[in-house]
Amino acid sequence: MIIPPEACLVPFCKKRGGILRIKRNNEVYQKRRSIKSPKAGVKKVSVVGSGPAGLSAAYYLMKAGYSITVFDQMEEAGGLLTYGIPSYRLPKTVVKKQVKVFEDLGIKFQLRTTLGKDTTVDKLAQSFDAVFIACGAWKERAAGVKGED
Ligand SMILES: Cc1cc2nc3c(=O)[nH]c(=O)nc-3n(C[C@H](O)[C@H](O)[C@H](O)COP(=O)(O)OP(=O)(O)OC[C@H]3O[C@@H](n4cnc5c(N)ncnc54)[C@H](O)[C@@H]3O)c2cc1C
Repeated sequence: MIIPPEACLVPFCKKRGGILRIKRNNEVYQKRRSIKSPKAGVKKVSVVGSGPAGLSAAYYLMKAGYSITVFDQMEEAGGLLTYGIPSYRLPKTVVKKQVKVFEDLGIKFQLRTTLGKDTTVDKLAQSFDAVFIACGAWKERAAGVKGED
């Protein structure tokens, strides 16, 4: 599962098919928007990374009553859904709507914030009760073979 089924705009989540089964259906979006946010709890959790892993963690933690702030280094949330997968397979509008659903549910997003540069785990741990790191695998690794470029 990538995005929590009950919060997901895209029906693939329910079928656990894959992230590219898209139904561009506004009704689905409107239905998901009606999910009620639970009262924010006293405990605060920071989630670093706004890809599917970070968004999923943020959603379930929010649902469990925690106050959530998602940090990401990029200008837009969504991780590889925004920056890796081509629009003809996953339109950016779908990802943006999905992120908006999470914002409407009370999840805060602090973008353009790089862990290791603008903040550190120690700093986050001072301001939050827990830190969840979902940074993906953005650093490429060289295979070390001739002609790999
Ligand atoms: C072209 C392409 C097609 C794909 N197709 C499919 C598919 O059909 N089905 C499928 O299931 N999967 C597919 N995937 C894989 C899927 O996109 C990834 O498995 C998924 O995005 C991983 O989610 P993640 O949250 O772990 O990481 P990511 O999506 O990579 O998100 C990590 C986030 O962390 C942020 N971050 C990283 N470092 C820092 C830092 N130091 N400080 C702050 N923020 C940071 C990044 O900016 C990013 O937003 C595809 C991937 C690509 C590239």
